[in-house]
Amino acid sequence: MKTKCLIIGSGPAGYTAAIYASRANLSPVLIEGPQLGGQLTTTTEVENFPGYPDGIDPFTMMDDFRRQAERFGTTFVSGIVTKVELNTLPSLQGGTEGRLPHKVWVEDTELYEADAVIIATGASAKYLGIESERTYRGRGVSACATCDGFFYRKKTVAVVGGGDTACEEANYLAGLCEKVYMIVRKPYLRASEIMQQRVLNNPKIEVLFEHNTLQLTGEGKVQGADLIYRKGEPDEALRHIDIDGFFLAIGHHPNTGLFKDYIALDSEGYIITRDNSTQCYSFPFREGQEVGLPGIFAAGDCADPHYRQAVVAAGSGAKAAIEADKYIKTIC
Ligand code: NDP
Repeated sequence: MKTKCLIIGSGPAGYTAAIYASRANLSPVLIEGPQLGGQLTTTTEVENFPGYPDGIDPFTMMDDFRRQAERFGTTFVSGIVTKVELNTLPSLQGGTEGRLPHKVWVEDTELYEADAVIIATGASAKYLGIESERTYRGRGVSACATCDGFFYRKKTVAVVGGGDTACEEANYLAGLCEKVYMIVRKPYLRASEIMQQRVLNNPKIEVLFEHNTLQLTGEGKVQGADLIYRKGEPDEALRHIDIDGFFLAIGHHPNTGLFKDYIALDSEGYIITRDNSTQCYSFPFREGQEVGLPGIFAAGDCADPHYRQAVVAAGSGAKAAIEADKYIKTIC
């Protein structure tokens, strides 16, 4: 199938790009990917997106985004992009090489050819990398309190991390569980002040500062965790906690592996875009490189190591679609 504008990803960035691209008559095709609605749907309630003074549940919000994009003519494809061949030939002036379409395969078989591609693939949860975390995945280990918290009603759980996500997850779980430990490797929380206060004032949450997880224990499912206090310091000590669930909330890594041979990524895998633009650079990135790739744009968390907010992602989705529209007009 051929299209002017292909959008990969169904979070706030992808859907907003679709709203703008469809209103610009680009008839975009949006590939929804593995997590409909994106990362936002792993949170409990969105309180900081303008226009929702009473907060909103993320599924309703993402469904609203989707319906708005549909209303103006976006075509949705459910499936996962498994392969891409992005045209990285730079010539826009004169030659036609830079105008060759970009190729995107869904589930290895369905080929889409597009003049412009907007990458809005977001980011995924990180894991600690300890052996037992893999052993108990789905049997007490989770990276999504909203998805799995329900299974731990009236039980004891631990949340790893000290950022906003960890605080949000801990508060959410405290509403369901008997007790929540927060395992924080530093002597302080990194989260915003309001989130810290919510955690510290919640009697069901006990914050274990300067603790790291050594291993999870249990017969066929998580029943406990061995922790180390003040690792490497003179008063280092071991501690065991009894828990039924272990929730990771230690950050995310961008979902950009598919594109690494074509576009420039930073050392963490985030897509590098031109200043004040969503246009991508070709791989390998050269310091001082000025010319971006024709027709390849990135929006949302896959290109944002700093803000990682739904409203910022939505704004960059709008920018990407406006830039894609401009680009398509130059080649038509
Ligand atoms: P952050 O990167 O902000 O925090 C990650 C936390 O996990 C830190 O406390 C970090 O510790 C800890 N950590 C990382 N790796 C390990 C490890 N291997 N072992 C133990 N602990 C580890 O990620 P978040 O997902 O919390 O937030 C990402 C962004 O999204 C932030 O900008 C945040 O403000 C925003 N956000 C906003 C929300 C809202 O406004 N409602 C909700 C959720 C997120 P250390 O501090 O030692 O590095």
